[in-house]
Amino acid sequence: MLLQEILEHNGKFVNDEEFVQYEATKFPKKRMVVVSCMDARLVELLPKALDLHNGDAKIIKNAGGIISHPFGSIMRSIVTAVYELNADEIFIIGHHKCGMSQSNPKGTIQKALDRGVVSQDVIKNLEYAGIDLHKWLFGFDNVVDSIKANIDLVRNHPLIPKDVPVHGLAIDPGTGKLDLVVDGYQVVAVSK
Ligand SMILES: [Zn+2]
Repeated sequence: MLLQEILEHNGKFVNDEEFVQYEATKFPKKRMVVVSCMDARLVELLPKALDLHNGDAKIIKNAGGIISHPFGSIMRSIVTAVYELNADEIFIIGHHKCGMSQSNPKGTIQKALDRGVVSQDVIKNLEYAGIDLHKWLFGFDNVVDSIKANIDLVRNHPLIPKDVPVHGLAIDPGTGKLDLVVDGYQVVAVSK
């Protein structure tokens, strides 16, 4: 079983003091915060492709790397990273072939129905209460547009200082290649 495997490994990891090589403080050495996708292909690839090591950065992840609300938990994490953890630069890193690109809320809801987790009645009641599951589950049409929308949301946030660069990058989940979408330094310079 997975849980047992993890606990077994963990006992050995701690016993052998393998943690020593990862020692760091909570303050990111590279003074940066990253927002990215939870995609399993990026677990190791993303930090390796960016040369990030333990202690270098704050990394916030969710499905699609989407900041869906200016006062949601992702934005709270960014604000905390900036003020409390000395992050001076923000990196929004989407990726190509993202599952949240042209995601299929209808299919997801159908799976929940098929599993018997919810009924049509429950979905109707949620709709009645103003919760649109289709809208809520939808990701984005295009990763570059999504990165830009995230950047606009961060840059226009009342609690984010105007001199904090917000960069946009799209990573290839196969090769780790980064495409520059927005150079945050240029935006800061232009708005000065
Ligand atoms: Zn993704």
